[in-house]
Amino acid sequence: MVPRNDGIPQFCATSMTPLPKALTRPTIKHPKPFMEIAPMSGIKARLNAISAIINYQPAHAPLNFHDTSPTEVYGANVFNDKVMKDRLPKAVYKSLKKTIQLGEKLDPTVADVVASAMKDWAIEKGATHFTHVFYPLTGLTAEKHDAFLVPDADGGALAEFSGKMLIQGEPDASSFPSGGLRTTFEARGYTAWDVTSPAYLLENPNGTFLCIPTAFVSWTGEALDKKTPLLRSLQALNKQAKRVLKLFGVQTKLPVTSFAGPEQEYFLVDRNFVFSRPDLLISGRTLFGAPSAKGQEFEDQYFGVVPRRVLSFMMEVERELYKLGVPVKTRHNEVAPSQFEIAPIFEQGNLATDHNQMVMTTLRAVAKRYGMVCLLHEKPFAGINGSGKHLNYSIGNAELGSLFDPGDTPHANAQFLVFCAAAIRALHKYSSLLRATVASASNDHRLGANEAPPAIISAYLGEQLTDVFEQIKQGELTGSKTKGLLHVGVDTLPPLPMDPGDRNRTSPFAFTGNRFEFRAVGSSHSIAGAQVALNTMMAESLDYIATELEKVGRVGKAQFNEAVQKLLQNIMKEHDAIIFNGNGYSDEWHKEAAKRGLPNMKTTPDSLPVLTSKETVELFTKYGVLSEAELASRKEIYLEQYVKTILTEANLVIRMARTVIFPAAMRYQSELAAACANLKAIGHDFKMASLEDCTAKLRTLQADTDKLDKLVAHEGGDTLAHAKFMCDKVLPAMLAVRANADALEAVVADDLWPLPSYQEMLFIR
Ligand code: ADP
Ligand code: MG
Repeated sequence: MVPRNDGIPQFCATSMTPLPKALTRPTIKHPKPFMEIAPMSGIKARLNAISAIINYQPAHAPLNFHDTSPTEVYGANVFNDKVMKDRLPKAVYKSLKKTIQLGEKLDPTVADVVASAMKDWAIEKGATHFTHVFYPLTGLTAEKHDAFLVPDADGGALAEFSGKMLIQGEPDASSFPSGGLRTTFEARGYTAWDVTSPAYLLENPNGTFLCIPTAFVSWTGEALDKKTPLLRSLQALNKQAKRVLKLFGVQTKLPVTSFAGPEQEYFLVDRNFVFSRPDLLISGRTLFGAPSAKGQEFEDQYFGVVPRRVLSFMMEVERELYKLGVPVKTRHNEVAPSQFEIAPIFEQGNLATDHNQMVMTTLRAVAKRYGMVCLLHEKPFAGINGSGKHLNYSIGNAELGSLFDPGDTPHANAQFLVFCAAAIRALHKYSSLLRATVASASNDHRLGANEAPPAIISAYLGEQLTDVFEQIKQGELTGSKTKGLLHVGVDTLPPLPMDPGDRNRTSPFAFTGNRFEFRAVGSSHSIAGAQVALNTMMAESLDYIATELEKVGRVGKAQFNEAVQKLLQNIMKEHDAIIFNGNGYSDEWHKEAAKRGLPNMKTTPDSLPVLTSKETVELFTKYGVLSEAELASRKEIYLEQYVKTILTEANLVIRMARTVIFPAAMRYQSELAAACANLKAIGHDFKMASLEDCTAKLRTLQADTDKLDKLVAHEGGDTLAHAKFMCDKVLPAMLAVRANADALEAVVADDLWPLPSYQEMLFIR
């Protein structure tokens, strides 16, 4: 392919692929840079960054979906059902399938056979190593690689992978946070194969390796990860949902599970800018930066034409994810400049969680190949929208579909109303818990700022459904039909719009036709935490409902309907305070919510203590999802993460203020002073306003930086007290330093300003 020389860079990517028709992708030789840049800045780093971006050339030949179609690519690197069917003996396949589909206990005798098939498959595809992938409480993905290769007696080597190695691993896990669950002398944890999430191959230009999704637990059986409680919560949900379904006479072979469809938002910034911004590099967000003259106010970004290099990036991300069997579907520009979204088709909750981790990893990795950095931070830039991850959540299974889907018949409606009321009750009872699952230092910048849902949790049901529940609440239970009031199990519901265009964007928990959309999850978060809470809360509500209805005993249809109606009425009487269809950003709502007694926990230190409250401990222990010790460890770890995050940022602020911003402003001050002196020398009466102004700003910058420095040194108190100190004292002090610095950015000569500006980072791409 001949490189173009028309000033339009071409963007494509590297790929090393064991696909059916492997693509060879020759490296392209480019001519020397061809575009001179106008000096916007005298600072070399900034100039070089801009020059590098303008002259960016792709290193590899383009992707080619012509020769290898997406359907051929899809799942090519997954040890999926088809591969298992082809490669496993029938009996083993059947037994494994039972475990995967029906949640039955794994027959350990099949492990050796599966391991051997997995190994052969992986090695045929060029794998040299295997790894148990797990999800520690840092929210990241962890892996430790082991070679298949073992030396034999004759000086050669064999490839080995036994059932034991598949089922259980023992990473040296002493460096993962355990929040006091393990003492260092017995710091070992082990990983256990999660049969329900398929193994897959990851590629590197120099080879591939087999990844086995696992749960990560201590030797005493405590969950050290995000997957274990998720799997436990799914079991609890299944058990209680089945009880309710049984009362409605519904049989299903498959377990009832949760479904999740996470819409992932992210920013892309050219990596040359990131390298010259220590704040972006280290903390993933800008700690300084005057606003760009243009932000998102023109609303010209959302769903706009995707920039060429970004689109190339998206296409490669999708191709990589196709190979891993991640059903990514949608891509588009988001609201803020340089902000984008990728969304998959929803999947079973556990699988969707693993897949979302892969999406995040892939976004980061592929961005590098295109000379960009993918920022998953919730608020990389002040003054424009941050990034979230709407979690579309429903429960059901392949046989039943979504149990949040209103049916067409009165009977189906009744069942739907019961599951929907269970969700409303759960949300009202445990809104603080759900809020706590999305609490982090980075998400605090987003929740409650007029772009994401408010920190007050409420449910949006839409006009019609709210009206239905209102009727049920008001209804007289005479059994005879009162005019205008709906009778459960007798009347059909009014048509509920499946995807109403006017649906409320300010609600944290919105009913969208056949699911709820929980919108408070942060873009960098694992979606496990919110689902663990949702599944367990739902289990508790369904347990309550089943218990109430079981008391009625075996009765006729009419009596059963009446019992359902009465139960729904009681639930609404007690819990409809959580329903709110209005504008969640308004001041009136904040007042109204307070009146209704809905918690409004604005910050992470406000939110996290609920993890060890009596209600939370009771809830999680009752359904065997998390023990009291496991909950305490989570609270401790998340508070610690909060403190560490802010501490790191505060230290960055101090360092950058002193070594980057102060010197630049002082140079400018010297120039001003020299100009004043020169003018005076030739008898001009020079007004020194700019010099005064710059000097004053420099002085406060210095003073505020010193203040922050003192605060950072503060010690003492437990983790919660420390977190509160960070929140109440350190964060405002950081903002004070920033305010000075941003004010200086607005006056200092641009050719002296050392940091890439918001304008450059957001609009040069
Ligand atoms: P929007 O941006 O309009 O909210 P998107 O199409 O971007 O919607 O994303 C909606 C997400 O919801 C997708 O991931 C989709 O697969 C998922 N979804 C659809 N139905 C369900 C369901 N029943 N349960 C869970 N998720 C669902
Ligand atoms: Mg969307």
